[in-house]
Amino acid sequence: MLSATPERLLIRGGHLVDPASDVDGARDVLIDDGKVVEHGQDVDATGARVIEVDGAYVIPGVVDSHVHLVDLAHPDAPRTNAYQRLARAGVTTAVEFFDFAAALDQFPASTAGLTMLGLQGIREHDGTASRGVLRDEVAAALRGGAVGVKLLGGHFPNTPETSARVIAEADALGAYCAVHSGSTRHGSNLDGMRETLELAAGRPVHVAHTNAYLRGACADVDAENRIALELLREADRVVSEAHLAEFNLCVGTVADGAPTDHIVRNCLRLGGFSVDVEGLEQAFRAGFAHVLHDTGEEPEHITGERGVELWKSDPPGTMLNFPVNNRMSAFFQTCARVGADGSLRWNGAGDFVVDAIASDGGTWRNVILRRGMALVHFGALTMRQLVDKACRVPAQLFGLTAKGHLQPGADADVAVVGLDGEVRLTIAGGRVVYDGHDVAGDGGKILTTELGAPAVAERGIDYEVVDIGAGLLRSQARDQAV
Ligand SMILES: [Zn+2]
Repeated sequence: MLSATPERLLIRGGHLVDPASDVDGARDVLIDDGKVVEHGQDVDATGARVIEVDGAYVIPGVVDSHVHLVDLAHPDAPRTNAYQRLARAGVTTAVEFFDFAAALDQFPASTAGLTMLGLQGIREHDGTASRGVLRDEVAAALRGGAVGVKLLGGHFPNTPETSARVIAEADALGAYCAVHSGSTRHGSNLDGMRETLELAAGRPVHVAHTNAYLRGACADVDAENRIALELLREADRVVSEAHLAEFNLCVGTVADGAPTDHIVRNCLRLGGFSVDVEGLEQAFRAGFAHVLHDTGEEPEHITGERGVELWKSDPPGTMLNFPVNNRMSAFFQTCARVGADGSLRWNGAGDFVVDAIASDGGTWRNVILRRGMALVHFGALTMRQLVDKACRVPAQLFGLTAKGHLQPGADADVAVVGLDGEVRLTIAGGRVVYDGHDVAGDGGKILTTELGAPAVAERGIDYEVVDIGAGLLRSQARDQAV
């Protein structure tokens, strides 16, 4: 049963996995007034609604460090299904990675009791933009409520010089800075990722979806993975995340007979098709290009003749998917860790090279827990390591000290997950926002900086100010391995 307001709840009979509390075993969890009160074996349930979870995993709500809340093909839509879908996937906090201003526009009509923060994409500049122009753009993002900015390199590349300046200006203004690698010089591939690290020149940068750059464009996929992991290990002040999904997402817009999105062009090249409308149609007929058809509870991927029809009916209003995310890269990037002897390994204890598992989803494919649990069953991650990468570390990246763990006093954000990875219950801020059937349709809050607080307040949205500077990206105060 959903909660209208934060409740006193006892989650009883579950297997709590909370690395921050050093707990991986049978524990009951008591929450009240939106916070965790305690967890233990015989917790007094007086005055609490008791939820029996029959041995399911009880973990901190997932913190998805890279989502797209706004459907890029319909940025002006009044609402989005993303929040409902995130709640159903056990996500209680998510970070918008494209257009936070548009996400804020949709928030009141879309919210499902979750916590959101986000980055504002830097637009594509002609030539090299001046420092002043870029500083103004970063400052405007912060004043608009975003906690930082994102370079949209792969999709809307800037020159390397402009990209480097954005990273520097974001650093100077204390903003979070994430990069989808790629510029006017290098594509969204291993060379692009190497270039990002060079352009950062020791400044803090979050490298988005490291797995997505490793599709064999620059070398064999296994060689690319090893090189990428070495680059990330050597890079100071860089954090990163990888995702576990096969499909990518790009926009269907066409100009002068060719797709405008550089990612579409890359995919067509990768699949051996010509980089024009004809090539895209052939890619559909070959079962390679798909339309993201979003009409039901979860979206479908449609290829073939029907895909061509859907896309042609409204190219700019259509999102496209290609199954280009290499499975080996997803595994390597998610599971690679450095053992005590300094060597890379894919099981056992160690410090993970890529910090977090994200979805790069939001409006679609919220598969962190389902796919993450598959890796647990496979023996590549322990449950504690999965919680670390899906909850605790992503919260730390952004300085969210009350999230990603369930120590007393933490925000009462909880996911109850079956052994199959199926989310049974999601609690956010002490409210049941997903009960296995229904999803809440109100509440939630925005996390912003001091600079952004007035803009969020003006919209009448509940908010809290966070200190991004205390987060792992900007402070690099790393914890021990689990
Ligand atoms: Zn993304």
